Amino acid sequence: MTQIIDGKLISLQIQDEIAAEVKIIKANGGKTPHLAAVLVGNDGASETYVGAKVKACEKIGFKSTLVKLEAATTEQELLHIIDGLNNDTDIDGYIVQLPLPKHINEHNIVEAIAPQKDVDGFHPQNIGRMALNLPTYLPATPYGIMQLLERYKIDTAGKHCVVIGRSHIVGSPMSILMARNTNPGNCTVTMCHSRTANLKEFTLKADILIVALGKAEFVTADMVKDGVVVVDVGITRVPSTETKSGFKLLGDVKYDEVSAKSSFITPVPGGVGPMTIASLLMNTLKASRREVYK
Ligand code: NAD
Repeated sequence: MTQIIDGKLISLQIQDEIAAEVKIIKANGGKTPHLAAVLVGNDGASETYVGAKVKACEKIGFKSTLVKLEAATTEQELLHIIDGLNNDTDIDGYIVQLPLPKHINEHNIVEAIAPQKDVDGFHPQNIGRMALNLPTYLPATPYGIMQLLERYKIDTAGKHCVVIGRSHIVGSPMSILMARNTNPGNCTVTMCHSRTANLKEFTLKADILIVALGKAEFVTADMVKDGVVVVDVGITRVPSTETKSGFKLLGDVKYDEVSAKSSFITPVPGGVGPMTIASLLMNTLKASRREVYK
């Protein structure tokens, strides 16, 4: 029987767990965890994401600060703000919402974030620590997927995990995490990408298939074997007459036919997506406890 992995439920459970911990911290006179978010410009989607992150902080009892900057902010000005956040002892962790306006070099900005406050887990030092299996902040989406696998007690050791996609925020870190000597992990990993020849040959051998390529309903039933565990990261907005909003979200996996062959599967929406916020809050709690950098 197919088990649907409910990311919405797990995300709320994690938020409740963190809220309970924050209560204890406060009752013991400890410092309230404090997350800051920097938003440059007026990109609608980014405003929504940042708004949701700030709201989640408030809900669980964190302190939050939103630094809203004009689209015309220069790289130098942003670096100055980042320097201020790095040196602000009340702020435990912060994120700079991506993408940034074209005139700002994202890499320069990510590298300027103090690694101990990099709760998005994008700083090269934290990526390196992830690869070395040292304490670090894992990037939000991969961290969320690891939580789903762990909380659904999915057996990963010795399994063949196929990852489709090699982006720096999903596919690459996911393939590293699944190969590490951890639980979840200990998989034999095959990483596939746009230049992979005969993709189906690999996907048919997957015990666990993690799909992050951004092409709606790309993975079909003939590409997977019976009993596969499917993690669908893709989110594509397509026009729809079925919804009031006039659009719906599709994953990278043709859900109906692939779920019929799967042992576990994440739906879209309601699978991986809701975990992003939970991951950020978990990282911020770690930052406030100085768990990663003493
Ligand atoms: P990206 O566009 O940066 O990378 C896509 C990857 O897919 C590339 O590495 C490319 O090599 C690979 N690819 C493209 N076509 C392919 C093909 N035909 N066969 C094999 N590989 C192919 O993607 P991303 O930023 O990792 O995002 C992927 C999807 O996941 C998008 O739909 C995005 O919206 C979604 N996403 C969701 C979340 C979430 O929270 N659920 C988070 C991040 C991204």
